[in-house]
Amino acid sequence: MFFVPTICDTNRKRSRANTIPLSNSLFVLANLKLVGFALLLICLTLVGTVSASGDEITSAAHMTLADAENDKEPAPFYEVLAKALKKRKTRIDNICPTSDVVARRILEDYGAMFLAKKVSPPPRCIFTNEEQVTRFQEDAGFTSLLIGFDEVELQPEAMKQLVKAREEAQKEALDITPRDGAEAARRNYEDSVRLWNSRFSPALDYWLAQGRLNVEQVTRLQSLPLQQQVAEVLELEKSGIYFSKDLSKSILYSIAAPGTSQHIAMLAFDVNEFENPRVREIMAKHGWFQTVLSDLPHFTFLGLKEKDLPKNGLRGVEVNGQTFWIPNVSGQDSSSQLQNRKR
Ligand SMILES: [Zn+2]
Repeated sequence: MFFVPTICDTNRKRSRANTIPLSNSLFVLANLKLVGFALLLICLTLVGTVSASGDEITSAAHMTLADAENDKEPAPFYEVLAKALKKRKTRIDNICPTSDVVARRILEDYGAMFLAKKVSPPPRCIFTNEEQVTRFQEDAGFTSLLIGFDEVELQPEAMKQLVKAREEAQKEALDITPRDGAEAARRNYEDSVRLWNSRFSPALDYWLAQGRLNVEQVTRLQSLPLQQQVAEVLELEKSGIYFSKDLSKSILYSIAAPGTSQHIAMLAFDVNEFENPRVREIMAKHGWFQTVLSDLPHFTFLGLKEKDLPKNGLRGVEVNGQTFWIPNVSGQDSSSQLQNRKR
């Protein structure tokens, strides 16, 4: 059955062939019509839906085409991102210079939010001070909602869809509530630094006690400017000296680097009920997806339909039955792709 979508897809491309010059078009068109018709029949026969009812045939063919779309390889993240940014009159290097190792890593780990629709993604992937964050958050705008005792804040469209998701969940006697209070949604720059230190400092103590780092190294790491500190932490993690809460994985899967969080972008919401598959389904229906590998309660507002995520440069990775939609950069040399585009 694998070849069914390909055949149907070929058939669908017929309309594009009609744009060739008029001199050739009649001949090609006649042939394409014949071939196309034959392929359509093959499609319908293979899916076993040729019946007396015209409507059924149409809907079965439609379903096959939809399946074909879903089976397609996800688009390359950097290409989709470049196009999305062009519409916003900016370029990848303006928001996140990929020659900078940390910036590039952050873009590839948290970058899904830059593709979000009907909201304002941040103008840079690393904010370096509170003033920048405040200006961005004021420009993008946000609305607040009281859930229990916690007031959470998100960009307006993200909030609107969260409210809808909650209503739907509550109709089914479920709920969607913020994890760790107000911090589940909007955060400022200082929050992101404090949370970084909540992972960074205990990890330093642990690795010092384990003898994997010495006092001199620890003191030096503590005194580094933040960006350099992040870079060195990521470098240490290459040798298994991890800084996540449980010290088993990269700190970036546990907490964002200072100034980089999707929470700063007001496009993230940490959900208490993330383990419930129906809750995840309802969130997805309203444009909210898990996009940061291993950060289980963390959902990102993308404002897209799940079926459209692959063509938006994201690929689904399933971990313990949960699907994470992450930038499709594996196996690509993104920096060389960027070089090519510049030429
Ligand atoms: Zn989060």
